[in-house]
Formats: sequence, structure tokens, C-alpha cells
Amino acid sequence: MIKISNEHSKDQVQVVLESKRRDNKSSVSNIVTVAGTRPELIKLSEFIRLFDGKEHGLLYTGQHFSPKMKDVFLEQLGIFPDFDLQCGTSDVLVLKENIIKTLNKAIPSHIIVYGDTNSSLAASLAAEELGCKLIHIEAGVRDFDLAVPEEGTRIKIDSMSDYLLAPSDFCKMCLQYEQVRGQVDVTGNLIVDVCKKLSKVATKPVGLSLPNHFILLTMHRPENVDDPIKLNLLKNHLSQVDSDVVFPIHPRTQASMKKYGISFTPNVIPIDPVGYLDFLYLLNNCKVVLTDSGGVQEESVVLKKPCITLRHTSARWETILLNANRLFPLDRKDSLNETIREMSKATITVNPYGENVAMTSYNAIQDFISSMP
Ligand code: UDP
Repeated sequence: MIKISNEHSKDQVQVVLESKRRDNKSSVSNIVTVAGTRPELIKLSEFIRLFDGKEHGLLYTGQHFSPKMKDVFLEQLGIFPDFDLQCGTSDVLVLKENIIKTLNKAIPSHIIVYGDTNSSLAASLAAEELGCKLIHIEAGVRDFDLAVPEEGTRIKIDSMSDYLLAPSDFCKMCLQYEQVRGQVDVTGNLIVDVCKKLSKVATKPVGLSLPNHFILLTMHRPENVDDPIKLNLLKNHLSQVDSDVVFPIHPRTQASMKKYGISFTPNVIPIDPVGYLDFLYLLNNCKVVLTDSGGVQEESVVLKKPCITLRHTSARWETILLNANRLFPLDRKDSLNETIREMSKATITVNPYGENVAMTSYNAIQDFISSMP
């Protein structure tokens, strides 16, 4: 496994760290945004910068807690949680109790949650118990498969929310079919601002020698990586790919590969998970990305990079409809290499997730709050 440094040139870090450290002493926050994982930190980073620290607080639950999944992101994205709970668990009840204990001292009027993590569900349940209004960003995203663990979480959060910010018209339509009780607006996907801004300053990861042409792979979903049969199917597919494959391996995947003694053929270059700037560099420079991550599917279409999703379903249907993304579940018998060859010719021209999304979402939330009696 190649270890690479998360260091960047001084200039690069300066561009990223343009926000100032907030005064941690301000404890009364009318609006609290809750995050608990790597993707939430990434997606919320430009949005939370828009709030005045006095009326807004960021609460980090610590669902993702290892330095490679948390600290490097806080540092690179210039985010400073006002409440750092360090829960170190994904247990919804434990997360909820800790959120309630923290916010009980000064109950906010509104809690903002993002996406479909256990931290978001825990914060939604906490909002209900504390009597706060609930705002859900990335509402209406659906896999259309209740066997996908996040699907039930999303549906539950959406059903509880007072205000729902949908990333696309497609997601709004899903919410309309479900007849959610809250107000719905389409505001785009926050990832657009973040990855467009930071991909401009992402330079080659220090200490990593990359082939000229490569495929990028990420894989972390339990349905894929907890199952040795799936890992072996992945190994077989990758052994037939006629390119190098750079694979930043998520801690969960690393643990599972170790447990089942699985290693890949020499065309696969395993590396530790990388910081966000490094990841964007890899994404910008790969031929095609293979992934089971929702966030990576979104980033791929925004950066116009063809994507193949190693799942039987996707919650990013917009990208599939645009032929920017294609499903390839690991138990498929046909050739992944052929699918890569076809997708590498895809021309991606449309970003389905909006522009200037952080400001649009911020304004929409302010309008919603000021319209309340
Ligand atoms: N990512 C990263 N470093 C890596 C792999 C992924 O910064 O080594 C970023 C990626 O750009 C995306 C996010 O992590 O924004 C995706 O997180 P994850 O796959 O854990 O979750 P999901 O998107 O499925 O919710």
C-alpha cells in the first residue's frame, strides 16, 4: 500500500483556508447544522461559511472520527465545528442522546441536516424532541430500493422535515409523490460549488507516482465490501481491465480485505484514503471513475468525468439519464473493461445539479425562516 502525504503547497492551502477560525465561545446558535461524516463535511463546507458564527453553529457528531476521514477534511476545507461531540459511533440512539445533551443548554430554533447519514437521522429525531424546526438539504434523493440502508433514513428524514431543499427537479418530484408535509424547493447540490472551486487548486498528491492514464476506483458500501464474494468479483473484473486502477481504499474496505485475505492484481494501485484536494486531482486526471459512492457520482458529472457505478441501483438518476453514469453491479457477467471503454467516450455537457448552490440554499433557508409566523 502506497502511503501518500496530505501536505500541499503553502499557496494551495491558503486558497482553501480563507475562512477565519470562529470564536468558539459564542454558544447561543439559533440555527445549528449537524454533520458527522466525511461527505457531509465536504458538501457543507461552502454553505456554512455563509452564516454569521453568532447565529449559526456547526455540530460535528464524530460518526467518522479517524484522522484520515475527519481531521484532514476539517483542515483542508477550513471548517471549525462549534460543537465537536466525538461520539465515535454510528449508533443513532447514542448520537441522538449526545446531540440532545449538547443542544439542551441553548435550544436552537432550527436544525439543518444533510443527506442520509445516521448523524442526520439522529439530529432529526433530536430536533423533534427539542421542538426545533427541521431543514433537510439533499432531500428527495432515492435509490428506489428499501434494502439500501440509507433509503429508509432519507424517507424518514424527509417525512419529518419542515423545509426540504431538493438537489434537482427529479428529487422534488419524488417528494411530491410521497406527499411530504414540509415545503419543498429545488436549490441544487452543494457539491457543485465545493468541487468546482477546489478542483482548480488541486495539485498532484505529494509522494504519489501516477501512471499517465488510469482509472480511479472508490468502494466502501457495506453491500459491496462486507461480502467476500463481492470483493472477489471485483478482483476478477479488475484483473481484466487493461488500464492501471488507482484505488484509495476506505478504512472499512481495508479492514474487510484484510479479514478475507483479498489482494488485487498488479494493475491495481492501492493507496490510503486521500484528502479532498488529492481526491479531486485524481478525479480530474483519471479516464473514468468506478465507484459505489453517491458523492463521487455527483462530482463526476460536475467535473465532466464519465462514471461507472458498481451497484445495482443509484440515487443519482439524473447522472444516468444524462449518460454520464452507468450502473455495473459486481455480479454482472459481461466485461467491465468493455463498459469502461464505452464510457470513456461519453461526452458530458450538462450539470444537473445547479450553479451557485451554497448561496441559493442559504437564501432559500433565510426566506423560509423569515416567512415563519
Ligand atoms: N473522497 C475523498 N478521499 C477519498 C475518497 C473519497 O476525499 O479517498 C471524497 C469524495 O470526493 C466524495 C466523498 O469523499 O466527496 C464521498 O464520501 P463517501 O464515499 O464516504 O460517501 P458517500 O458519497 O457514498 O456518501
